[in-house]
Amino acid sequence: MAHWDIVIGLEVHLQLATQSKLFSSASTAFGAKPNAQASFVDLALPGILPTLNQEAVNMAILFGLSINASINQDTIFSRKNYFYPDLPKGYQITQDAHPIIKQGVLDISMAYGAPMTVEIVRAHLEEDAGQSSHDSQQAGLSAINLNRAGIPLLEVVTAPVMHSSAEAVAFLKSIRTLARYLNISTGNMQEGAMRCDANVSVRKTQEDPLGTRVEIKNINSFKFVERAIEYEVQRQIETLESGGTVQQETRLYDSKNNLTQSMRSKEDALDYRYFPDPDLPHVRIHNDEIKALEATLPELPQAKCDRFLNRYELKTEEAHRLCIDPDFSDFFEQCVAQTCATPQTVANWLCGEYLNLLKQKELTHHHTPITADTFATLLDQIEKNMISGAAGKVILAQLFSSTKGVIELIESMGLAQISDTETLSAMIQTVLNNNPSQLEAYQAGKDKLFGYFVGQVMKASKGRANPNQVNTLLHKMLSKKSTP
Ligand code: ADP
Ligand code: MG
Repeated sequence: MAHWDIVIGLEVHLQLATQSKLFSSASTAFGAKPNAQASFVDLALPGILPTLNQEAVNMAILFGLSINASINQDTIFSRKNYFYPDLPKGYQITQDAHPIIKQGVLDISMAYGAPMTVEIVRAHLEEDAGQSSHDSQQAGLSAINLNRAGIPLLEVVTAPVMHSSAEAVAFLKSIRTLARYLNISTGNMQEGAMRCDANVSVRKTQEDPLGTRVEIKNINSFKFVERAIEYEVQRQIETLESGGTVQQETRLYDSKNNLTQSMRSKEDALDYRYFPDPDLPHVRIHNDEIKALEATLPELPQAKCDRFLNRYELKTEEAHRLCIDPDFSDFFEQCVAQTCATPQTVANWLCGEYLNLLKQKELTHHHTPITADTFATLLDQIEKNMISGAAGKVILAQLFSSTKGVIELIESMGLAQISDTETLSAMIQTVLNNNPSQLEAYQAGKDKLFGYFVGQVMKASKGRANPNQVNTLLHKMLSKKSTP
């Protein structure tokens, strides 16, 4: 297949973590009973008036500041008209020509290895729609849940500057990280708090004008973003190479069959008949408001990562890994402050065994039952040779389900490490006595058997012997034996 240049632009919807909705006082909490959180405004009853939620505006401004964007100090809301059963007003309140945020850049080196910046063209506030569910048991019946209707969304639109599915995913991970640092969204894709539309086109070379794009709507996981883009790129290339043309359209990703399907041909902005919402005044944002918000900006992901590299002298991989999530990196710092283990050791345990265990249990760090204090105690026990690293792993796994503390577990599970010279020497002597032929072979020059003896001692001690000490003692004892 000839070479093609892939071009991707993303539209990311972040559900903002405000207490109440964008234009009503209904709660935004996830998981409530259907329609328990839909107010008159969300139901679009006659005569209702929207009231803008200042918290959402502040969050949008924080986001803008964090990507060095310009904040539009005179921003307006418009109506985007279309019919859908889960949009009772018959229009969505969104921002069209005057979005609150324009022109910023997001640095995505942390999630991608190679440094890369993505141009963000705009970010605007809009309300989410409700949800329809189609009951398969009773054919023909659909239910509407308006709990989601009116939840504030920040739609972030990138320039068409990404060139692979991997770059697109790295961008999405970085946006999620940033949103979590700013505390403006959970970015939780499983809960729909972050969703993505991917625009994809191909062209022969980077010098050619952009190809016709296809928009893949509402993709809800990183894996699906990657697969949908890859499928779509192949489809477009095959179409073009067989002499066809790519139609500008909106497609949906079908994750079961791993393909995209046409949903509708691309509508023009004209079809939506955007016009300024007469119920909402212009939003004027003053310099002092921006300054006040700027003063509340937290340490951002890249800055934190740089600090971890310098202050704790971590390896890049672990520094990146830890800083992907603000709570995870805070947890790391709390552990470091409380343990005698080195920062790199703490990082290795957190990024290795701990993340593996979370993954096995299908948990995230946000649901961890383990406190930094407990983690630090565990690492201290290993550091002080009270238990072996292997025993440490066993205890860590136990901590997920047990109500016992580290010290109690060491005792009740009999995992305390044996470092006592006399006890260890006796164990070694028994092993040597029980393996006379191996001992003879060793003394005749078969050095490799040293490891065999260590293994036998470890086995006899049920893994509790301190391996360094076993090595030292065994050396001593064997050299004594070989001198006549
Ligand atoms: P619209 O307003 O019709 O949605 P935009 O120009 O705002 O169109 O673009 C929407 C998204 O599509 C942006 O993320 C942009 O980067 C991306 N995009 C535009 N043209 C292309 C293209 N030829 N190939 C890939 N992505 C594109
Ligand atoms: Mg669009």
